[in-house]
Parts: sequence; structure tokens; C-alpha cells
Amino acid sequence: KAEALVRWQHPQRGLVSPVEFIPLAEASGLIVELGEWMFRESAQWARRWRDEYHPEFQVSINQSPLEFQREGQGYERWFEHLEKIGLEGAAMVVEITEGLLLDASTDVTDKLLQLRDAGVQVALDDFGTGYSSLSYLKKFDIDYLKIDRSFTRNLAPQSSDMALSEAIIVMAHKLGLRVVAEGVETAEQRDLLLAAGCDYGQGYLFARPMPAEEFDSMLRSQRTLA
Ligand code: MN
Repeated sequence: KAEALVRWQHPQRGLVSPVEFIPLAEASGLIVELGEWMFRESAQWARRWRDEYHPEFQVSINQSPLEFQREGQGYERWFEHLEKIGLEGAAMVVEITEGLLLDASTDVTDKLLQLRDAGVQVALDDFGTGYSSLSYLKKFDIDYLKIDRSFTRNLAPQSSDMALSEAIIVMAHKLGLRVVAEGVETAEQRDLLLAAGCDYGQGYLFARPMPAEEFDSMLRSQRTLA
């Protein structure tokens, strides 16, 4: 699996962080076009990585609440694009944050249903840091919980972060969700999470953020090694 992250290579300023330009994109409305572009790019790579490396390869993309909540816009264009490149919905995961589900209007519910009908999976990002209202976990079709990096950071045996992570994993599994730990940086964190039954991990221990072309080469060299 891979998570798509966006960076802006500016001709004069160099690499601009999303922390700087996403709020501007949201304020100006450009977030909609940016989101569409990111979706097409990510789908294109997912197509390639499924063909080349693994038939179940998935790419997840983050959706800003503003982008998700924009009125009157569904996912039709995404689904058209998937059809055009012959990619099934299950190749994509949409990451949303807890806050979105708290004041779930029919519009939000409707969009989640659209995704489910198209086979696109949904992940709850930064889980455990927001309101963590648990009732929405049974109310909506969520596929993955992503344990926030703030829990992973201080993982140690018998720590409260360990207890919370274990509880999140057990709860998620009982509800039929799978768990991704964010921010895994050390082998000890990985081992504690594995022992707690965590399904997936992401973070610097495995790979730093890198351009898609580099990720592609990494997959290729791993296949050669295998
Ligand atoms: Mn994310």
C-alpha cells in the first residue's frame, strides 16, 4: 500500500510544504481541482503498481473536510476516470478525519455510500486525537482506522499509549475494521504493534515520503531482491 502526499515544487521558492499551500488552496477553491488531479495521478500509479507488482496494491488519498463537504459534487468524475483506466474502486482508499463524521449531514452519508458502492475503501485518519465519538464506527462503513502518530511515538510496554493502542486495535477488529499505525519509526514500535495485533504500519521505519517515480524504483528493486 501507499499513501499519496502532495508537495509543491515552486520555481522560485523550492519545495513548499502542504501546511502552507493547502489552506490557500482551500480558501481559493483550488482544492477541488487539486484534489481531482491528485486522484487521477494516484489512480494512474495504482494501475501501474497493480499491473507490475501486486494485484491488490492500494493507494490512499487524503480528503480535506472542505473538499469532502463541497455541496452538490459527488464522485462521478472519479468513477468515470477509474472506468477509463480500467481500475477497480478497491485500488483506492479515501482518508477522512473523525470531525467529518461528527456532524454527519445526509450529504456526508451520501458520499460515503457512493464510495462504498464503487468499492472504494474508507480510512479514518489520525484516529484517537479528535472527538473519537465511537457511535459513528458502527453507523458508517469504515474499512480502516489509522492510529495517530502521537500514540505510536511513545509506545513502550505498560505505557498508557500502549494500552490505548491495544484497546483501539481490539475494538476495531471486533467491528470488522483493520488498523494502520502511523508514524512507526523504530523496530521496537513495530514489534509492540505487531504483538498487539495491528494489521499495517507506516512511517520512517519502512520508508520516508518520496516522489512516486522513486517509490516505483523501490518496488522494482524489492521485487528483484525477492
Ligand atoms: Mn493520511
